[in-house]
Amino acid sequence: MTRLPTLFISHGSPMLAIQESLAHRFLLTLGDTLPRPKAILVASAHWETSAAPAVSLTPDPQTIHDFGGFPRALFEIEYGAPGAPEVAARAVAELERQGVTAQTHATRGLDHGAWVPLRLMYPQADIPVAQISVVRGASPAEHLRIGRALSSLRDEGVLVIGSGSLTHNLYEFRGADIDAAVPSWVSDFSAWMKQRLEAGDAASLVRYREQAPFAARNHPSEEHLSPLFVALGAAGDGAKMEHRHAGYEYGVLAMDVYAFQ
Ligand code: ZN
Repeated sequence: MTRLPTLFISHGSPMLAIQESLAHRFLLTLGDTLPRPKAILVASAHWETSAAPAVSLTPDPQTIHDFGGFPRALFEIEYGAPGAPEVAARAVAELERQGVTAQTHATRGLDHGAWVPLRLMYPQADIPVAQISVVRGASPAEHLRIGRALSSLRDEGVLVIGSGSLTHNLYEFRGADIDAAVPSWVSDFSAWMKQRLEAGDAASLVRYREQAPFAARNHPSEEHLSPLFVALGAAGDGAKMEHRHAGYEYGVLAMDVYAFQ
């Protein structure tokens, strides 16, 4: 079986699902550029748990519309992909084998961090999907370790996706136009991350909060960057980064997509 890359996808605003943009168009083509996965495991910024990661065993996940103040059309979208309980159980086993305690969730659906990009990448909704949570308050190094524990799933046809946002300051997002100018505190941070990812410098990346310019301003809380570390860890040591998409929306949301192989 072909070894799959891992992905970090910046999912931007929920409007990405229905609003034409460069990132929207890119995601429409992304699925076709990858070997077809047997199943998908998404680490989403929109599922946070305490103390330990949780994995969804749901056989038939509901579409969760976990946002407010958006057009009705967004709330009417259903992404009917089947769950992937066997892959989820494999993920739990691998996490525990690597000394990472994991919880399970029997009924968790798909949040918009998962279904917004997946609906563009795989509109047929015919690839089973499970989710893994990010851990509130856990460090980048801990999320890297969670990802590393999942790396063998790549050899079993599982596409591991981290879905978050390379930059994510919603306090400075309100009211901006989709094509608003990009402030330097956003572009400087994105450039630093790209450079360190290109260099494969995990040691600096896990210390981004001390080392990257404007780190705390771009991530007042860390849940939208944690999925990057899961994807990076799941790619394994020495993985090469491929910058698949670059761009910004609303001035402050970097829409970058990275593949690691
Ligand atoms: Zn989000």
